[in-house]
Amino acid sequence: MRLIMMGPPGAGKGTQAKFVAEHFGIPAISTGDIFRSNVSEGTPLGVEAKRYMDAGEYVPDEVTNKMVRNRIDEDDATPGFLLDGYPRTLAQVEELDGMIKFTGHSLDAVVVLTVDPDEIVQRLLQRAQVEGRTDDTEDVIRRRQELYGEETEPLIEVYRDRGLIVEVDGMGEVADVTGRIFEALDIIPES
Ligand code: ADP
Repeated sequence: MRLIMMGPPGAGKGTQAKFVAEHFGIPAISTGDIFRSNVSEGTPLGVEAKRYMDAGEYVPDEVTNKMVRNRIDEDDATPGFLLDGYPRTLAQVEELDGMIKFTGHSLDAVVVLTVDPDEIVQRLLQRAQVEGRTDDTEDVIRRRQELYGEETEPLIEVYRDRGLIVEVDGMGEVADVTGRIFEALDIIPES
């Protein structure tokens, strides 16, 4: 199973990605999380990525693509994976196509979480207090939202043309959103 979780910053991609990935027994691969752990470990990748992340900018495609390629090559991703936060640019879409084609597989679905942008700023500011993420200040949040609209939202049409888009309302309680995703993907929840 090869899935992508898309949606604007703060849509709840990471939270939902874990539930869906667990159901399918595949790893949830979050580029944001991988960057953040590199930042906290002070690796060269982390040092490079931090400059962009703190400004709300995208890390350059070559850097991000290489990182995802390495992660997807790991053994636990052989049965599939759920990508959270990748691809975000057209160049990343092409790169991912190549990676998946190479293994003889194809993408199964792209889940898009739809949310109300104003509500999201509040969610993210709240998260800033809980998690202390340095990119959750109001200015940087707005920049991330802007960049999402310019660079990433257009990818929805690319995947829609391929018949892969599964749109899900991302507002409301976490469990309700999970229920909607499962329903949209025809998943029978385990009891
Ligand atoms: P959010 O989606 O809420 O903005 P993430 O945790 O997914 O947060 O990503 C945090 C930051 O990591 C992004 O603002 C960006 O700087 C970087 N990043 C994550 N994924 C990518 C990607 N696919 N391409 C470029 N930069 C990325």
